[in-house]
Amino acid sequence: MSRGDFFESVSHYFDRAASFTKIPAGLVKQVKSCNAVFRMRFPVRQDDGSITVVEAFRAEHSYHRLPTKGGIRFSRQVDLNETIALAALMTYKCAIVGVPFGGAKGGVKIDPRAASDGFRERVTRRYTAELIRKNFIGPDIDVPAPDYGTGEREMGWIVDTYKNLKMNEGDVYACVTGKPVSMQGIPGRKAATGRGVYYGIRAALEHAEDIKAFDLTPGTQGKRVIVQGLGNVGYHAARILQDDGGAIITGIAEREGGIFNKHGLDVEAVVQHRQETGSVLNFPGAENIDDSAALLEHECDILIPAALENQITKKNAGRIQAKVVAEAANGPVDSDGEAILRERNILMIPDLYLNAGGVTVSYFEWLKNKAGVSFDRMISRHEELIKRELLDEMEILSGQKIPVLQRDRLIEGPSEEELVNAALEHTMIRAYRRIHHFWTERDLPDLRTAAFVCALERVAESYELHGIFP
Ligand code: GLU
Repeated sequence: MSRGDFFESVSHYFDRAASFTKIPAGLVKQVKSCNAVFRMRFPVRQDDGSITVVEAFRAEHSYHRLPTKGGIRFSRQVDLNETIALAALMTYKCAIVGVPFGGAKGGVKIDPRAASDGFRERVTRRYTAELIRKNFIGPDIDVPAPDYGTGEREMGWIVDTYKNLKMNEGDVYACVTGKPVSMQGIPGRKAATGRGVYYGIRAALEHAEDIKAFDLTPGTQGKRVIVQGLGNVGYHAARILQDDGGAIITGIAEREGGIFNKHGLDVEAVVQHRQETGSVLNFPGAENIDDSAALLEHECDILIPAALENQITKKNAGRIQAKVVAEAANGPVDSDGEAILRERNILMIPDLYLNAGGVTVSYFEWLKNKAGVSFDRMISRHEELIKRELLDEMEILSGQKIPVLQRDRLIEGPSEEELVNAALEHTMIRAYRRIHHFWTERDLPDLRTAAFVCALERVAESYELHGIFP
């Protein structure tokens, strides 16, 4: 499968959605077009002292809202078309969850597993400096975040580089999200994409009416789940589905192979086993599946591809046995694969909705950094005073003392993380209702088309309202 197909798949989904709208052709073209790309090559010193030239990209897909927003990917597979396709998905994703950003994406062509810590740091800092040089980063311009192959540490290096080169700017911490909490990050961001995946699956499986056509019963409780990818997204999605959703994680597929146990795998224990042995294989009680791609074809209720794009294609779509494919990764089902899954009446919960939890919480982090104050701090003091008075009054009226622990918990109110998770849950539920409404009321063929139509109309409307800059 060539990488170009991902770009084509996104284009195909977009064009199909556009055919269900009445938006003028010129405006459709504007929504689809990538507004700007920056392709760079820069030298980086390797650990042995030699110099290597790194190729990297940043695509800013849509300026209908600013800043633009999207992760930075470290991968050998990165190319311009992939970066543009991912940036386009970011635009649509933000529109669906009502996050006021345009889409962007960055790609750095290195092997994240082979890179030493020192090399990663030099690459990240140099990449940031290149972005600054061309005005492709800034709190109100373009705000990166983690993606495949990057995490909190890289975001920390980015903000540190930015801060040191832009000392005179007031809100430097808002130049990137997904930072460590100690560097003005927000609690809950790390798990946000996976947590959003859980909320999204739960929303899609909530109504018996909707899902009986797919031979499914409502709810996540007891559902058998196979997850591909135990990275940041797959791990948290599986963990929360298991702990909060009562699902049974029967299979986990990783690069080195897969494991299967029809009675369920303890996600946390598998992660620990992988840390200790370097592999998911040989996990106690589980069957080894040497070809991890074959695990995707095992029987289950929900299959969650949470790794990279183009995992389900015409080669394997005919053999997928899941009733639901929950797209935690970006673009895991290509357009050929999609046609086959649709034909086979498999419910697809599309990426541009399902993995939007990450950027949703990035938005909260960005708001916090812009405001320079955390959410719990802003609301808690005032509420604490009111609650203290109320509880005192209740104790007097009832003549009974409320136990101290319970009283403290009631007075203290939610932590910043609880606020973040509650707002994320609300956002995912509301966004699902929105795309579900498009799906049923507009009689669209599926959830993906509904999500694309919803995004396209929102972005087009925003261009129309703001006018086109002459
Ligand atoms: N890389 C993530 C995504 O694909 C997060 C983007 C962000 O938080 O800006 O959605």
